[in-house]
Amino acid sequence: MNKLKMLLPFIQARWLRRFKNRQALERYQEKELQKQSAYMRTHSPYYRSLPEEATWPLMDKTFMMAHFDELNTKGVKKEEAMAFALASEKNREFNENYQGISIGLSSGTSGHRGIFITTEEEQALWAGTILGKMLPKGKLVGHKLAFFLRADNQLYQSINSPVIELAYFDTYQPIEEHVSRLNEYQPTILIAPASMLVALAKAIEEHHLKMDVQQVISVAEILEATDQRYLEKIFQLPVIHQIYQCTEGFLGCTCEYGQLHLNEDIVFIEKEYLDEKRFYPIVTDFKRTSQPIIRYRLNDILVESKEKCPCGSVYQRIEKIEGRSDDIFLFEGKNGTTISVFPDFIRRCLLFVPDIRDYQVTQHQPTHVEIASNQLTEQQKRQVIQEFEKLAEDLEFNCPQLTFNAYEWNPQVKLKRVARKF
Ligand SMILES: [Zn+2]
Repeated sequence: MNKLKMLLPFIQARWLRRFKNRQALERYQEKELQKQSAYMRTHSPYYRSLPEEATWPLMDKTFMMAHFDELNTKGVKKEEAMAFALASEKNREFNENYQGISIGLSSGTSGHRGIFITTEEEQALWAGTILGKMLPKGKLVGHKLAFFLRADNQLYQSINSPVIELAYFDTYQPIEEHVSRLNEYQPTILIAPASMLVALAKAIEEHHLKMDVQQVISVAEILEATDQRYLEKIFQLPVIHQIYQCTEGFLGCTCEYGQLHLNEDIVFIEKEYLDEKRFYPIVTDFKRTSQPIIRYRLNDILVESKEKCPCGSVYQRIEKIEGRSDDIFLFEGKNGTTISVFPDFIRRCLLFVPDIRDYQVTQHQPTHVEIASNQLTEQQKRQVIQEFEKLAEDLEFNCPQLTFNAYEWNPQVKLKRVARKF
């Protein structure tokens, strides 16, 4: 890939796109949205066919897959792209191109997986932007990145360059292998799902792993506050960074104060509010042209922060990513009603109990919740039950039956500490 293509997005993300206030940002976004819509009207058969005055529809994965062929501007056909992507994934060969375009599969149960396509230019743009935003202040060259991912894709390989070295770690490999490779490689920046970071931190704590990283970045999974504090302690860093990235775009990242901000210089986010501060983001990517991401509604529950960040950024600050809409627990209320409970309320039932760090709470039925955690004492179990009873009383639902099991971490599966399974 032409490394020069990364340079401009890098410079723009790092130094050029600075907005002195919210109004300046909004003016810029308006211009970008107009450019994007003009492009789609010319290049995307779907948008070309819409009447001039029509409001563009909301998208989700189902919509994207149903209109895949007409939406994309590259003439890629869904069936062929899917067959190609499945074959590459099966062979774990991720370097092949399909007609000069790389094709990835988003996670989801089989049959419900999404396809996303990216061009070389888009990859360069993504890599340049992410590095521009995330590389530590001061030192730009000579970094060694260790990047943990479940499936590789060209998108991620595009980072390798003369000034930055990247080693890819396949999470399918056993942890012992990662530890020995990391001891050898000595990265300066570590990028991994939160649960993998925790596992590596344990290896450091147990003196199997020794490395001196300058930056730790959590990706792909929610970074729980307790894990965050543990990682800060073990890695001896004031801030554990986060990247909020999904197949629909590079949506957010932490500033130097460790606060998450939406990347409003590359995406426009509409908010569908759930209460006064929780919302589902509706994403429009200004930069992606091969496969339009326009008014794409995500199921992530974001919690906005109304406070100004000490970093001075005008980008919307996010208190946290709470979970996904399908992880909202559903309990039986009075008179046959259903009571929805946000993941954070469930999390708190465990966090109020001292010394629980590794856990997973799974709701199997409205009346059955499973708690997986290791070495819980009888007293801790009683406390967890009491917390659930209290929550049930406060929110007026029938307290479910709680069962306790061992916690087992599977690095091949995205960890959700709070999950609903029905
Ligand atoms: Zn900030």
